[in-house]
Amino acid sequence: MKDIPYGRQDVTREDIDAVNRVLRSDWLTQGPAVPQFETKVADYCGARFAVAMNSATSALHAACAALDVREGDIVWTSANTFVASANCALYCGATIGLIDINIEDGNIDPIDLEERLEKAARIGRLPKVVIPIHFAGEPCDLRRIHSLSKKFGFRIIEDASHAIGARHEDQAVGSCRYSDITIFSFHPVKIITSGEGGMATTNDNALAEKMSRFRSHGITRDHQQMYTKSDEPWYYEQIELGFNYRMSDIHAVLGMSQMNRLEHYISARHELAARYDESLGELPITKPLKNQENRTSLHLYIIRLKLDQIKKSRRDVVKELLISGIGVNVHYIPLYRHSFYQRMGFCRANFPATEKRYQESVTLPLFAKLSQESQQRVVTALREVLTE
Ligand SMILES: *Cc1c(COP(=O)(O)O)cnc(C)c1O
Repeated sequence: MKDIPYGRQDVTREDIDAVNRVLRSDWLTQGPAVPQFETKVADYCGARFAVAMNSATSALHAACAALDVREGDIVWTSANTFVASANCALYCGATIGLIDINIEDGNIDPIDLEERLEKAARIGRLPKVVIPIHFAGEPCDLRRIHSLSKKFGFRIIEDASHAIGARHEDQAVGSCRYSDITIFSFHPVKIITSGEGGMATTNDNALAEKMSRFRSHGITRDHQQMYTKSDEPWYYEQIELGFNYRMSDIHAVLGMSQMNRLEHYISARHELAARYDESLGELPITKPLKNQENRTSLHLYIIRLKLDQIKKSRRDVVKELLISGIGVNVHYIPLYRHSFYQRMGFCRANFPATEKRYQESVTLPLFAKLSQESQQRVVTALREVLTE
């Protein structure tokens, strides 16, 4: 029997036809499909602008640069995230601070955030930017983080790599109602994919312009922005340092085609999660929390083992499931556990909730095209491993 992965893309005939049409067109690199994809995502989210890039990591870097993060600045993010949420600030020369989580949903704990902000204010070490994650697709408490940003004077970048299609207070994540910029990832394990790809949404024209210059070497063709007055028809000007973070049209049409099925993907994930919720009833685990005020995009279905009721370690549970062909995973190895971040002085004792959640977590396979039979195999294997 084939192994069941924890996440997998769904590529349809329409997706393949769309990519084929681009391959036969005049544009392979950034052409007409990129702005069309940007408009589609911006409209869906209810944001004014969207800037596509070749990954969410690039988009996080561009977002930090647009908010003028530089050497001497401090950026805070969650201890429970993928390394890219923190690395982006280091690319700009800033230093990183980490915040502990709410153990139930894995998101930044606003109480811990407020306490750390008060301490930081006393010693004059407040962050310039805070990067909350919508962990596993469950929107974090942005309204509270936003009100703290007013009190303590920081900017907000939402890392919504997990959360396209999620809703919070009746708005799509990405509307930037409570933030400066929102970042999406279109990596194949995420909700929709463009192969590799990412996007930033914002309601601020200046930030959108900065990010689109940043993704293309810092070059402008707008004479208003140039320092040199020129009427030469070939003239363009690099006015600051940027990168080549452009998305190609090949990737953009794939992402655009996948956007047509976003609602279908979210409801498929909800149906699968409901089936897990039902069938895992009596096992010694904690099921994922769903906040009724939000719509989670259900990027990940993470159970937490009640280790005091199980005779095995988490490592053995994961190993046995992997041997049975069930592609379980763990999200995430907390940032402070990576040697690179340990060398900056982070220590797990300061993040008790992140640490406890990490020790108990197992991510089960969940993706739109997970069949009922495969899901049943996951449930049966898990039941065997946990009760034998
Ligand atoms: C996947 C992911 C990223 C990086 O996305 P890429 O598109 O692969 O660069 C960043 N942050 C989080 C939370 C992610 O899950």
